[in-house]
Amino acid sequence: MFGRKRRIEIKTPAQFAMMREAGLVVARTLELLRSETRPGITTLDLDVVARESLALEGATSSFLGYHGFPAVVCLSVNDEVVHGIPGDRRLRDGDILSIDFGAIVEGWHGDAALTVAVGEIDGADALLSEVTEQSLWAGIAATFAGARLSDIGHAVETSVLARGEYGIIEEYVGHGIGSAMHMDPSVPNYGEPGHGPVLEVGMALAIEPMVVRGLRHVHTLDDGWTVVTDDGSRACHWEHTVAITADGPWVLTALDGGAARLGNHAPGTSDLPD
Ligand code: MG
Repeated sequence: MFGRKRRIEIKTPAQFAMMREAGLVVARTLELLRSETRPGITTLDLDVVARESLALEGATSSFLGYHGFPAVVCLSVNDEVVHGIPGDRRLRDGDILSIDFGAIVEGWHGDAALTVAVGEIDGADALLSEVTEQSLWAGIAATFAGARLSDIGHAVETSVLARGEYGIIEEYVGHGIGSAMHMDPSVPNYGEPGHGPVLEVGMALAIEPMVVRGLRHVHTLDDGWTVVTDDGSRACHWEHTVAITADGPWVLTALDGGAARLGNHAPGTSDLPD
C-alpha cells in the first residue's frame, strides 16, 4: 500500500506556526464543545456553538462544504463511528459523543477529535474511550524524524490490543495535513512496523484511531455520511494533528503542545522555537 512514491508536503517553521494557530482554534473549540455537551442538548445546538467559536476566532471551517458536508463539526453518537451530521437528535444521559472538528487559519489546517461522556456513562464505554485516547498518544510518541510511517499504526494497534479484545476500524485512517485537510500519506491504525516513507522534520500528520467494543466492520447510513458499526457496538474516536520537529512530535491541536502526555522534552513546552 506504500508502493507508489508520493510527495509528502514539508512545512517551514513559519508554516508550522500558522498550523499551530489553526490547531489552537481547534483545541479551544473542542474544549468549548466538551463543556457544552450534556443531556438534552441537540447535536445541531453544538454545531451552532462551533460556528460561533470559528467566527470569534476569525477562522474558517475545514469541514463545511467538504464533499458537500453541511456542518462545521462531525458529531457521532454511540454506535456511530465518524462523520455524523448535526441535527435534531437530542443527547441522552449515558450516550457517548465523538466530536471531530477542523479549522483553517491563513490557509493552514488543524484537525482533532475526542469522545466525551453525556451525563453518566457505562464503565465499559469510559474504558473504551480511555483505551482509544491512550492508543492515539502511543501513535504520537512513534511520530518522529527517522521513524517509518507504519511504525505509527503499529504503535496504535499494539496499544489497543494490549488492553483487550477491541476492534480497530480499518476503512478510515489518519492522513497528512497542512495546506489541505486530507493529504498524503494515509496513516492506518494497524500494521507491521518498519514500512513506508521515512518520517522527516516538516511533515505533519493527523493521527486518528477509531476503536469499537465489538467487531471492526462498519457501513454508511442512507444520509451518505454517518458511519456506524455493523454489530451496533459503541465506538470512540480520538485525533490530533502532529508536527514533526527536530525535537520530536509537536501536538498542534493540544493546548500544551502535548507536553503533559509526552513528557518534559516535548517541543510544545517551549512553544515555537522561533
Ligand atoms: Mg482527520
